[in-house]
Amino acid sequence: MYTDKQGNNWYKIGLHVHTNLTDGRKAPEEVAKIYKAAGFDAIAITDHWLFGGEREIEGLKIISGCEYNLGGGDTIEGVMHIVGVGMETAPDITRETPRQETIDKIVDAGGASIFAHPAWSLNSVRDAEALSGFSAIEIYNTVSDAHESTRPYSGYLIDVLANGGIIYPIIATDDAHYYDGTDEAKSYTYVNAKSLETKDIIRAIKDGRVYGSQGPILSIQRDGNKIIAECSECNLIAFLSNSSWSEGKTFRGEGLTYAEYNLRDFEKWVRVEIRDKDGNYAWSSIIEL
Ligand SMILES: [Zn+2]
Ligand SMILES: [Zn+2]
Repeated sequence: MYTDKQGNNWYKIGLHVHTNLTDGRKAPEEVAKIYKAAGFDAIAITDHWLFGGEREIEGLKIISGCEYNLGGGDTIEGVMHIVGVGMETAPDITRETPRQETIDKIVDAGGASIFAHPAWSLNSVRDAEALSGFSAIEIYNTVSDAHESTRPYSGYLIDVLANGGIIYPIIATDDAHYYDGTDEAKSYTYVNAKSLETKDIIRAIKDGRVYGSQGPILSIQRDGNKIIAECSECNLIAFLSNSSWSEGKTFRGEGLTYAEYNLRDFEKWVRVEIRDKDGNYAWSSIIEL
């Protein structure tokens, strides 16, 4: 957790991790130790089809969760993974439950529904347009770049969806399975919540007071015709929008901590990505204009 200049607390949270209760390689106690040692304030254990309630393990807050992986491995036939976190009770969701109903049942149970790793699943604009009510979308999923997988980044789909008016809060997760140095405690979500109470965390996610990070700290705001980004020292600050090209969108250098971008008339949305000297990114949520 860190406190920003305005006095807001930003909690460091892992919203998608697995354990050996399903296909993860470590027990919940070991997983909790790893994340606590890495400075996380909380994690959601989201084992496949296995609802785990809220609890504390090894002194770390565990948020309730479950991952509903709908469809098999054929992305033409259709794959979609929906993660639920913060539900008060286990939603009645089976492998036959349709996608929209899965989202609705997570939300009805008091949880946040996460559109997990759309790049890995090869989800399309059409998939997203058919659904409503996601609470957040993963822009980066660490395990999707570990072992057999190589498609971790979903920014392209997020941007195309934003062009079509579909905008969800942006988060990053590990989706850790292996715990061998490739996928644990690498990507996470900073959540600006009133407290670490689950209801406050879920509220903040749904309100979009979140961003994904692998280390850098980032804040963005609109000031009239400008978008201002402030961050920890970075080598790249990039403003992304529905303008495919315009001057002054990308800032490169050493020790960058501030950049501003002048909006153009036709811009409808903006988000910011930054990268530090070690290659760690942070990804803001989208500002709608
Ligand atoms: Zn998944
Ligand atoms: Zn997963």
